[in-house]
Formats: sequence, structure tokens, C-alpha cells
Amino acid sequence: MMSTKGYAAHSATDYLAPFDFERREPNKHDVQFEILYCGVCHSDIHQVRNEWGNSKYPIVPGHEIVGRVTKAGSRVTRFKVGDLAAVGCLVDSCRECSNCKKGLEQYCKNGAVGTYNDYEKDGKTVTYGGYSKQIVVHEDFVLQISDKLPLEGVAPLLCAGITTYSPLRHWKVGQGHKLGVVGLGGLGHMAVKFGAAFGAEVTMLSTSPNKEVDARRLGAHKFALTKDPEQLKGLKGYFDFIIDTVSAPHDYNAYLKLLDTNGIMICVGVPPTPMEIVGFNLLGNRLSIAGSGIGGIPETQEMLDYCAENNITSDVEVIDMAYINEAYERMMKADVKYRFVIDLATL
Ligand SMILES: [Zn+2]
Ligand SMILES: [Zn+2]
Repeated sequence: MMSTKGYAAHSATDYLAPFDFERREPNKHDVQFEILYCGVCHSDIHQVRNEWGNSKYPIVPGHEIVGRVTKAGSRVTRFKVGDLAAVGCLVDSCRECSNCKKGLEQYCKNGAVGTYNDYEKDGKTVTYGGYSKQIVVHEDFVLQISDKLPLEGVAPLLCAGITTYSPLRHWKVGQGHKLGVVGLGGLGHMAVKFGAAFGAEVTMLSTSPNKEVDARRLGAHKFALTKDPEQLKGLKGYFDFIIDTVSAPHDYNAYLKLLDTNGIMICVGVPPTPMEIVGFNLLGNRLSIAGSGIGGIPETQEMLDYCAENNITSDVEVIDMAYINEAYERMMKADVKYRFVIDLATL
């Protein structure tokens, strides 16, 4: 075992604080890398505070990880010491089920292994995430990244990026489509960028007028203030797709009315309470409500390659490790443009 430094919470009410822990020595299929940057995802807060009821303490969050390889096992073929490397939300899966065989490891029927707050396949070793100096991961779950893009802007692609890229690709959103994006946060700002890059007409749907300038800068063609009934009325039946990125409780029915016949509402946010849908809003226009969770390893690599080719990164605010508790407080107030990323050189 080797010891590494990190930041952990020891209970649902604890602040994150320095924490020394052990990681396994890389075995023959493992890649060990020094973490350079780690994005701060809203699900980190949910799990640190045990809001999903499954937290295993101490918890070292972080699943938007980029770094540089420091050791590669004898059977590793895709990485060598000095290469850039990245890890997202998954570090293992069964590799045998029908979903794993299709590259949909996130939907592994035997349970994929989360990068943190999960058990390794041995059923007892807890996984620790990217708020740390080093990580060791089987090479099948390590992604290649280009040196063309700033690494701090690449880190959030590993969760916020793939979470929005995957459904837009799955439903083939692109040229000729009208796409509405609900929520301009970590996920929403990536949905705007990808939607525009794929050729869709993108409209930002927001409750706050001061988001308009930014939304347009990020690539939105239109902006609608959803608190204004007149603007909503004008968009009735307008969209082919709406991607809803909001994780706070909110009314979906108002947005369903904005979908054209056969429209699809794609939900990627996780509100804490079940959604309430008025049935007539769906069947009156043959609408679908769909969900999508992160992305598999092949598609995550495809997304990273696409971003390198098309110069797409996340808009980030780089922070010191010690700032993390304050960063969480600011995220609760949506006070970040649009992702905090930890510079692990400060740990
Ligand atoms: Zn995440
Ligand atoms: Zn599987």
C-alpha cells in the first residue's frame, strides 16, 4: 500500500479536512497518476452530507479527475509514465453484462463501481475520489486527454460534460432541432455548448434575467425568462427537446407545455423529491420524459476527443484545496461560473 494525502469528511455534518489514507500499489493492469485538477460536482455535496443516504465515512469526494501518469503496471498498454490521464465517475464494472459489453458501463447490471463512496469489486474496499494527490485505477477506466486544452477546463468534462453530451448524442440532437436548456449551472452551461456545437438552435430557459449575457456568450441563440408568462406563452409547442439540468425541486409541467408534438424532455438533474407530472401534459402531445446518467467509457473518450477537436472546455474557477468548504457554500447559492476546480498542487 502507499499513503496519499487527501481531503475527507468524517460525518454528514463535518467540514472537509486534511486526511491521510492508503491506496493500493498498482497491479499489472493499473495506472497510477498524480492528480493535477479535480472538478467539484454538486453530487460531491450530496454525498458528503449523506443526502442520498448511502455515504461511507470518511468520504473523499471528486470524480472529475485529470493528472499525469506516474506508474503503469506491466500489462498496461495505453499509458506510459508522463502521459496525461483522466478518470470520471466510474472506476470498475463487471465487464460481462449486456450493458458493459455495449460500453454502457454506467448501467452495468451487476453494479458499476463509483470513483468514490463505493465498494471495489472485492465488496469491502471503499473507493476514494479525486480530492487527493494520487489515484490508482484499472486502465480500462482511465481516459486519454489531449494536451491541446487547458487541463483545469477539461476536468469538469468527466462528469458535467459527459452527462450532457451522452443524452444529446443518444437522441441525435442537432441541425434542424430546437433545444431548450433549463438551468445554467455546471451541467447547463455544458448542455448549451454541446447543443450549439451539434448544430441545434439553443434557447436558454432561465428564471433570472442576468443570465442572458452569459448564456449567449456560451452559445445560446435565444433566451427566455421563464418567470414571464408572456414569454412562456410565445414558446408553447416550440421545442423538439428540452434538457432539464436542475437538481432543486421545480415544476416540470410548465416546460412540458413548451414541447412540440413527439417532443422529449431529457432529465439529468436529480431533485430530492419525486417529480409531479400532469398526465394530460404528456398524452395531449405524445411527449416523452426521459432520463440519462453520465456515460460509458467509450462515449466518454469520444466526448473528450470531440472537445479537443472542437476546442470545448468547461468555464471554471480554480480554487485551492483549503477553499473547498467555502466553495460548497457558494455552490449552494449557485455562486460559481460554472464549475469550481481544485488545483491539487495546493494540497
Ligand atoms: Zn458529478
Ligand atoms: Zn456489467
